[in-house]
Amino acid sequence: MPVEMEKIVSLCKRRGIIFQNSEIYGGLGSTWDYGPLGVELKRNVKDLWWRSVVRERDDMEGLDAAILMHPTTWVASGHVESFTDPLVDCKKCKKRFRADDLEGESCPECNGELTEMRRFNLMFKTFMGPVEDEGAIVYLRPETAQGIFANFSNIQKAMRRKLPFGIAQIGKAFRNEITPGNFTFRTREFEQMEIEYFVKPGTDQEWYDYWVRERFDWYIKWGIKPENLRLREHGKDELAHYAKSCHDVEYLFPMGWSELEGIANRTDFDLRQHEKYSGRDLHYFDEVTKEQYIPYVIEPSAGADRATLAFLVDAYREEKVKGEKRVILSLHREMAPIKVAVLPLLRNRPEIVEMARRIAGDLRGHFKTVYDDTGSIGRLYRRQDEIGTPYCITVDVQSLTDKKVTVRDRDSMEQDRIPIERLREYLLGKLIQ
Ligand SMILES: [Zn+2]
Repeated sequence: MPVEMEKIVSLCKRRGIIFQNSEIYGGLGSTWDYGPLGVELKRNVKDLWWRSVVRERDDMEGLDAAILMHPTTWVASGHVESFTDPLVDCKKCKKRFRADDLEGESCPECNGELTEMRRFNLMFKTFMGPVEDEGAIVYLRPETAQGIFANFSNIQKAMRRKLPFGIAQIGKAFRNEITPGNFTFRTREFEQMEIEYFVKPGTDQEWYDYWVRERFDWYIKWGIKPENLRLREHGKDELAHYAKSCHDVEYLFPMGWSELEGIANRTDFDLRQHEKYSGRDLHYFDEVTKEQYIPYVIEPSAGADRATLAFLVDAYREEKVKGEKRVILSLHREMAPIKVAVLPLLRNRPEIVEMARRIAGDLRGHFKTVYDDTGSIGRLYRRQDEIGTPYCITVDVQSLTDKKVTVRDRDSMEQDRIPIERLREYLLGKLIQ
């Protein structure tokens, strides 16, 4: 069984991983802030994704498009027309519900009468420029994908790319969800990690299968237990308006199996629509076969917040050590927010403190390192275990004479005695894959 969500929420708050947004004002619904350790963890998730899908491949380019786009983008993509949820209000208690979540005819909270169902568009609207009229409406993008489609031709030409190739992007997206929840799983502001992979029509199924496998394996590579991950194919009735087929990578979250990433075959829908609405030719010219066509697109679309939450939940462990409870985040070493903690065994001995601070300073340029002397050694170890720090270095009285320190492994709790001059090399071997 996965850990209860309350335990994760509480750990996140206690240890500076994730805080309620605007907490001093009572909080803003379903909005969360990543604290000092959370920002490191989430950055690791994004960096490892970028490394896997962009830097280590020769068929991918990166992009960082603006959040605001020409409003016609969302007409072309179908979002103005169909990106809606069915909404009903209770006339008595004024609560809002998704019509498809309700069983009966009346309000599940107070049994009051409900309004007629209406379609509610999930895009956040705002105005560009000083005049708040219809002509000035722009949207906060509900997906990063459209910034990629709009730049397909720019990137293909500037980078002299031949098919197949992909474009990857990480960025914020916004959806005015009626029922957000489950901590950072479903929020109105979130961060996506999306790939649009452009292929020749007819080869799309093969590339689709490839990306489904590739993306599933990525989560396992970086620490998710295989038994907590599964693939689920969408039925014809749940497919989005643009998709020919779609698989979800699902994770066993505390609230049950839920979507971590979707891999969709978007066909040539998006580029064809943008060609139609922009009047620009978005065909690709195949120099070998002298054919012209609109590429098909395979889209692996992941959520950075969901992935971060999944890595957190999956790493959480409680165990008994000498009769005491030990909470540990057994994160993959490269995922861990802090790699090394340097701890002086005695904080009232200036020579030990000075030596520990010097060691931390030397390591800081190579690994995310902290120095901590704010408690007893047992307490300091527990704190580092709870945030998943793979290695703790302890400087003791003996270190002053033998110039060695103790390195403790988070998972096995085994300790090695290492000469200070060999410390960096020792940690490099352990921490870098
Ligand atoms: Zn009601």
